[in-house]
Amino acid sequence: MIELNEPPALRQSVFEDMACAHMYWAKHKKRIPESSRPDAARGVEDHEVLATYLTHLMRNNLRKDLRFLDALMMGVSEDAQEALVRFRDDHDFDPEKIAGVEIEIALDENFKPVDPGTVGAYAAAKQCGTSIAYLGKLDLVILQSQAEAEIVDWKTYYQIIDPKHFQSKFYPLLLFCWNPSLERVKFVLEFVRYGASRTVEYTRSDIPMLKAIAQHARKRQRQLHEALSIDGAQPQASPGRHCMWCPLVLSGCPLANQNPYITRSPAEQLKYVIWLREADKQNTELLKQWVLQNGPVECHDDNGVEYVAGFSELRKQQYPCTATSRILKQWLRTHPNDRTITEQLTMSGLSSFLKARKRQSLAKRLASIARTTVTTRFDIDRKSGDQPRLDHAA
Ligand code: SF4
Repeated sequence: MIELNEPPALRQSVFEDMACAHMYWAKHKKRIPESSRPDAARGVEDHEVLATYLTHLMRNNLRKDLRFLDALMMGVSEDAQEALVRFRDDHDFDPEKIAGVEIEIALDENFKPVDPGTVGAYAAAKQCGTSIAYLGKLDLVILQSQAEAEIVDWKTYYQIIDPKHFQSKFYPLLLFCWNPSLERVKFVLEFVRYGASRTVEYTRSDIPMLKAIAQHARKRQRQLHEALSIDGAQPQASPGRHCMWCPLVLSGCPLANQNPYITRSPAEQLKYVIWLREADKQNTELLKQWVLQNGPVECHDDNGVEYVAGFSELRKQQYPCTATSRILKQWLRTHPNDRTITEQLTMSGLSSFLKARKRQSLAKRLASIARTTVTTRFDIDRKSGDQPRLDHAA
C-alpha cells in the first residue's frame, strides 16, 4: 500500500484520529478505509438534507419551506428522518443573513486563506499544488452584521455537550482568518434531535489564543506523522471512545485482546454495568451498616492517598418564597443596579403545585415566562412498560 509522507491538512476528524497513534497510522499513512457505521451514515444523510434545504431557502429568499423539507426528508432513512423532526417544526431562517452553507475554508501554515470564499477550496488548492495546513467545512454561516457572524454546526447524535472541544475553537479561527472584517464569532452546536443548542463566542482579541491551539495541534500532527514515517515505527495504540470510528476496531487493533471497546459488544457492556451497579449497591450497603455501628472506615493506596467512608453532615439551604421576596425587594430598592439578581434568579419546585387543576390559569401564565433548558442524561433503566420479572415463582 502507498504511504503518504506529507501530513494531510489538520481538520477536526484528523485531530480526533490523533487520539490513537495506531489509528492515525492506519488512516493517514496506510489509508485503510473506515468501515461504514450507521451513526455516520445518519449524519451524512442529515447534513445533506440540511445543506440542500438551506441552499434552497437562500436561493429563493424564503424563511421556511416545509413542503420542500418534507420531500427531502422522505428521501432519507427513518433514522435520519427521526433526528430532523424537531428541526422541521421549530426552525426558520432569515435568508438574507445566510452567508453560506458547507463553506470549506483552507488556510496555509501562516493562517492565510488559500482560496478565500471558494467552496471546494481544498480540491482547488490541491490541483495547483498549494499546501494546506488547516481545513474545515462549516455547516452554516450566518452574518448578523458585517462584524458579527454565527457558525452553526449540526449534531445529530444523542448527547448534548458543551462547545469545549477543538472544533469549537478551530472553526471560529478559520472564519476569522477567512473574513478579516469580523470582530465577533459565535459558534453554535445545534442538536437537531432535541431542538437545543450550546454556544461559545470569541472576539478578534482571542485570535492569538485560537492560533496557538491550532498551531500546537498541527505541530503534534507533524511530529506524529514524521515519527510514523521511520522504517519499523511501532505506533502505540491507545483505546478510548475514538475506537468507535477506527477502521481497525473489528480486526487489526494491536490491543484486540485487552481493548474493552472491542472485547465487549455494547449489549455486553450494558449487562456488565448493570452487574457492577448491583454489586456496588450491595457493597455500599454492607459498608454503610458497618460504619453505622462502628464509625468511619479508612484505607490508603500505594501512593499514600487516603480514603475514608463515613457519614458527613450536609446542609442545604432553602429560602421561603414570601419572606425572601420581601427581603429581595428591599435589597433592590437600595441596590437598583444589582441586575444580576433580577435577571438570573429563578425558582424551582413549582411543577408539582402547578399540576393541580385549580391552578390551571396560574400554570398557563407561568408557562409563558418559564425558561426551559434541554440537556441529556445518560440513563440505564428498565424500558417503560416492562414489568419486573417474578423470580422463582412457585
Ligand atoms: S481500536 Fe485499537 S487501533 Fe483503533 S483506536 Fe482503538 S486502540 Fe487504537
